Amino acid sequence: MQNDTAIEVNLDKKKYGKSIGDIVKIKSDFFNHNEDMLRLSAHQADALLLQKKREKCKICEKPISGEPLYHSQRMDYYLCPVCGHLNSAYEDTEDFAERVYLSDNYENNYSEEDRMRYRQRMESIYLPKASFLIGKLEEDGLEKGEISILDDGAGSGYFVSALKHLGIKARGIEISGPQVEFANRMAGESILEQVDSGRIPQIIRETGVNTVTLIGVLEHVIDLHSLLTAIKDNTAIRYIFLSVPLFSFSCIFEASHQHCYNRHAGGTHTHLFSDSSLKYMAEGIGFEETASWKFGSDMMDLYRMISVSLDQSGNPKLREYFEGKFLPILDELQLVVDKSEFASETHLLLRRKA
Ligand SMILES: [Zn+2]
Repeated sequence: MQNDTAIEVNLDKKKYGKSIGDIVKIKSDFFNHNEDMLRLSAHQADALLLQKKREKCKICEKPISGEPLYHSQRMDYYLCPVCGHLNSAYEDTEDFAERVYLSDNYENNYSEEDRMRYRQRMESIYLPKASFLIGKLEEDGLEKGEISILDDGAGSGYFVSALKHLGIKARGIEISGPQVEFANRMAGESILEQVDSGRIPQIIRETGVNTVTLIGVLEHVIDLHSLLTAIKDNTAIRYIFLSVPLFSFSCIFEASHQHCYNRHAGGTHTHLFSDSSLKYMAEGIGFEETASWKFGSDMMDLYRMISVSLDQSGNPKLREYFEGKFLPILDELQLVVDKSEFASETHLLLRRKA
């Protein structure tokens, strides 16, 4: 295992890289279940193809026109010439959401082992993100005690748990009742509240917190502009911390490996952000970028696709050989990609302009 500091670069407001570490273990399903995941993705593409054609860009709302930049898994993708957002040809709608968001099954009884796994996931994936956010807010002049956070789309509560672990005042809202139940059981206290999606803009409009966090959320919100307008109108909110998938090398690897599961463009991701569309979005609500942390999984995706392709072509021995050569340099390769500003994911801290 590499030392984390060797694969992270800090340049004033920009940070790049993060050791992939246990992610290989976490994503092992992708290797073992390529066919199942491809079927699921095809089912989700079927649902999107039933929707109306997307007429305007998800971010700048200018008309979509001209030729698509590329197609992958039966879907055309248009790169917006105005803001640089990547839009699929079909619109994400309530009907699409009802068809694709599967409700997970959650048990009623949890063992100590479940709690341990929850804590490990929180510590390895979410605690570094929470520490980054709090560090940047402190650099911006906030005392730890005055930071208050509402996590929208809190999922299973990992990020709220990480924030509370750091002693930060934080709560989450989440649409899925079973996930809220699971999060609160794992936390041993009520950290999340179940809310219906229609209520979220109103909750954002009325919250008294100074920071709203949206971790892997904006790409799934159907009525993005209601949410953004609510943030804009509530001047108590001074910071937004968000994480979104980006138009990146992963898209190109996916388009060139049509027999491998498309984790990035497709499925529930019907559009992808770019640095310029994020900037366009922030400016539209009176915010500006104050810090970012880029670490993608482009090289992990490439590694997975080459491995799966080698297996598919009857080359399991060469796949093993490839693993031995590629995995030790994966973090370094990804750091190069992260610094190229064409990586698959970003974490961005936005501050309300004075
Ligand atoms: Zn646009």
